[in-house]
Order: sequence, then structure tokens, then C-alpha cells
Amino acid sequence: MQKIRTYGSYFREKYGYRVEKIPLAIGGFTCPNIDGTVAKGGCTFCLNDSFSPNIAKNKDKIFLNLSSKENPIIDSQINQLISQINSNKIEFKKRGIANKYLAYFQAFTNTYAPFDTLKKLYSTALEQKDIIGLSIGTRSDSVEDDVLEYLSELSKTKEVWIEYGIQSIYDETLQRINRGHDAKNIEIAIKKAKDYGLNVCGHLIFGLPGENQEMMLNSAKAAFDWGIDSVKFHPLYVVKNTLLANEYNRGEFTPIELDLYIDTLIKAIEMMPKDIIVQRVTAGIEDETLLAPSWCGKSKNFLMAKIKEELAKAGYAY
Ligand code: SF4
Repeated sequence: MQKIRTYGSYFREKYGYRVEKIPLAIGGFTCPNIDGTVAKGGCTFCLNDSFSPNIAKNKDKIFLNLSSKENPIIDSQINQLISQINSNKIEFKKRGIANKYLAYFQAFTNTYAPFDTLKKLYSTALEQKDIIGLSIGTRSDSVEDDVLEYLSELSKTKEVWIEYGIQSIYDETLQRINRGHDAKNIEIAIKKAKDYGLNVCGHLIFGLPGENQEMMLNSAKAAFDWGIDSVKFHPLYVVKNTLLANEYNRGEFTPIELDLYIDTLIKAIEMMPKDIIVQRVTAGIEDETLLAPSWCGKSKNFLMAKIKEELAKAGYAY
């Protein structure tokens, strides 16, 4: 049985203790693909709340758009950051499952703000007790060189990751999901981040509209070849009140079946270099906002058990 390298095992090998990511949703961040800078409406599947529960919790707090130079970060945003870190640490400690943490800037585009704003947020997160590093979720078209330089400097003493949504290497797919950039843009961004010495995690989605298995696997192969250090595999699922929900309701989009998803996942893992860290093998949402496929609404335990069982049959332990 071949062991798939997990994020947990990477940290235990490197530091000798358990590290968890604390998901953050800082009010005021938005996305250039939503606010009209790149496009309007965002990716067709995006209802950002569903990807980050912290957003839903903080909906009552309205902050000015952080991407504007006119809106410097304010104390209540910094306090929100600290409070999200502390409340998550309490939860993890209650469950006794972590010693140290990464601050995971997850919701929206977490480099889409002036450099001084970003520096303040990242450095404040790193000043908090037991935070050993950062993981920053962003878009390949939204990271300036000064941010890369700063993160590169930080990475000499801290654990620093940048997470890019790759999704697909097919421009026709990226256009169809209104991604707002092409595949070349992603390739350049990943290689550039690697040149700056940063750890890169790439997100891939299987089941995008118009894609067959060969296309999904070609995207995975390209991402591995571009030098990503870690990968998150996701199925595309449809959430209510999204553009994708309209396509689904009109019968223009058919979600991926569980069997095909798992088969594609196994084939991707078979061609993946062994040192790549797998952070995620599926995703879903267990509430009434999910439209389809229904298997993405099954409990996380059920899905993980099924995927682990199929991986084991193929000779992989996860
Ligand atoms: S890049 Fe992310 S936040 Fe922006 S529209 Fe797409 S999924 Fe939503």
C-alpha cells in the first residue's frame, strides 16, 4: 500500500507536531472577478459563503472594500482577525487536535488590497500565539511583486503557502465558468511564486461544464508539471443562487457522478509525483443550499470512508 502524503504528515515530518489551518474571512476583502475589475458576477459556481463558514458568521459586520486605496484597514478589521484566530484556537484545543496553526486567509481574494493593508493583516496574524505561518488563498491575476517579495522574506522564518485556484487548463472551460483569466496566467503565477521560493497549493475542480475525464486529468498533469507542492481536489457542486444553479435548472449542466469523480481522483493520484502533498480529496456542503449532486451533501465521514475504501482498492492509503 502506498501512502499518500498528507498535510498532517508533512507538518509532523517537518516540525514534529500537529499543525492545523485556521480559516479566516476578513470583512472588506472582495474579488476582482466579482467587483467588475476583471469581470462581474464572479465564477459561475461562486457563492463565497458556502466555501467559508466564517463569512456567514460575520455577515452583520459590514466593512468598506479593502481593495481601494481610499479605505485603509481599520481597528475593527484587525480585531476581527484576532478574534477569528482565537475562537478557532479554542475550538481546536477543546478537541485536543493541534499544537500550532497556520492563519488561512480563505474567503475571497486575499491579496486583493494595497500592500500596506496586506502587510498589516499578515503580520498581525503572525504575531498571535502559536501561529507558525500563513496560507493565502488568492487568484493568479491578483498578486503583485511587492507581495511576493514580502512573503518570500517571511518564508525564511515562517511557514508560508500561497493557494491558487487552477480549476482547469482549458481556456474554453475557464471562459464558461467566467473565471476572468486564462490558463497561461495561472501557469505564469505558479512558476513565479515558486521562483520566489514560496510553497504553492493548487486547487483543481473535477466535473466542470463541458469537461470529460481526459481533460480533467490533463489539468491535473499540467498542475503537477508546473511545480505545485500541494493539491486540493474538489468536485464541482451546485449551490442555490449562483449562475451555475441557473445553468443546472435549465438542464445545461450535469454534475459529475461519484463513481466518475473517484475514478478521476485515483487516476490523478496515480500520475502525481509522490512528494506532492494532498490537502483535500473531496468537498461538499451539508445543508439546504446544495442543489446537486446529492452525493456532495452526504456527511463528510461517509464520503471520506467511501473515497478511502476506493483508494485502498487501488493501492493507496490516505
Ligand atoms: S475567484 Fe474565488 S471569490 Fe472570486 S468569483 Fe471566483 S470563486 Fe468567487
